Amino acid sequence: EPKIKIGIAGYGNLGKGVEYAISQQPDMELVGIFSRRDPSSVHPVGDSVAVYPLADVEKYVEDVDVMILCGGSRSDLPEQGPALAKLFTTVDSFDTHAKIPEYFDALDEAAKPAGTTAVLSVGWDPGLFSLNRLYGESVLAEGATYTFWGKGLSQGHSDAVRRIDGVKNAVQYTIPSEEAVEKVRAGEQPELSTREKHVRECYVVLEEGADAATVEETIVTMPDYFSDYDTTVSFINEEEMQKNHSAMPHGGFVIRSGKTGNGTKQVMEYSLTLDSNPEFTSSVLTAYARAAFRLNKSGQHGAKTVFDIPTGLLSPKSAAQLRKELL
Ligand code: NDP
Repeated sequence: EPKIKIGIAGYGNLGKGVEYAISQQPDMELVGIFSRRDPSSVHPVGDSVAVYPLADVEKYVEDVDVMILCGGSRSDLPEQGPALAKLFTTVDSFDTHAKIPEYFDALDEAAKPAGTTAVLSVGWDPGLFSLNRLYGESVLAEGATYTFWGKGLSQGHSDAVRRIDGVKNAVQYTIPSEEAVEKVRAGEQPELSTREKHVRECYVVLEEGADAATVEETIVTMPDYFSDYDTTVSFINEEEMQKNHSAMPHGGFVIRSGKTGNGTKQVMEYSLTLDSNPEFTSSVLTAYARAAFRLNKSGQHGAKTVFDIPTGLLSPKSAAQLRKELL
């Protein structure tokens, strides 16, 4: 069996994580990294890994089976997703939940006529958490679903803050409310507002001369990202940032609390504890690259989400092997 040939578009945290993840997959090989930056300024972990200008990507259509898109959700993917889906079967981790329907449409429009398959919004949330919300809702038809995040650093939210004018560096932590979690685990099915479930904490390093009040206002009022939460913003210097905020832990849980029969309590929980959010997300992207490759080969073109993909396609094992070993 020839190996699945993978390209990486964009080399940040996810790009690096994908490079590592591919080396753990028996049936994949890395063709190269495609970056908007000068290739000589991009330094892959592996010495022999090639870096090409993203502008030349069209030349590699025959060399790459699946392009794993590792750009940011806020401004990279809305552009790069549809453009690259015209050329390659793609996988991405687009995580602006409110904009997933329109992003799906843009990818579907690009991929269908091109005969490619564009798998969007995989990772852990959206991604594995989405699947677990679906399992919960489908199995416990009467009940309530809860998603808690953290404590952890949110890539998408940190990214959004870093792109604000006047911001030099920033991190954002999401913290679940202990009280809310306990009630949910006890099967109480409380009604929780967005504000009651989590708080968001931002640590920001300003550019020289930037106005702190303006930056703070831009953060706390940002739609989709912050406007529905109690957000605190702390301004720190670069040294404190490097010392106290360099790790990228995350995690959380999806809980479905429901009742069956004559009022019998049932609680389902799926939990993740991640020392590195990007390395984990990259590992999910890489498993879905296999599914994307197989879907495309079987003639399933257009945009696909985790809900559209049979789970067995994620595994390098055959269906027969999976029945024997994991069922
Ligand atoms: P980064 O900011 O590290 O990278 C984003 C892009 O920025 C890269 O593709 C790269 O493009 C460019 N870049 C990276 N480093 C540099 C640099 N030193 N100088 C200039 N440009 C640089 O983002 P992450 O990889 O951490 O995350 C990407 C997205 O993943 C997030 O926006 C988030 O939405 C999503 N995500 C989704 C999750 C999920 O569960 N679905 C979970 C975690 C993240 P280029 O090489 O072309 O310059």
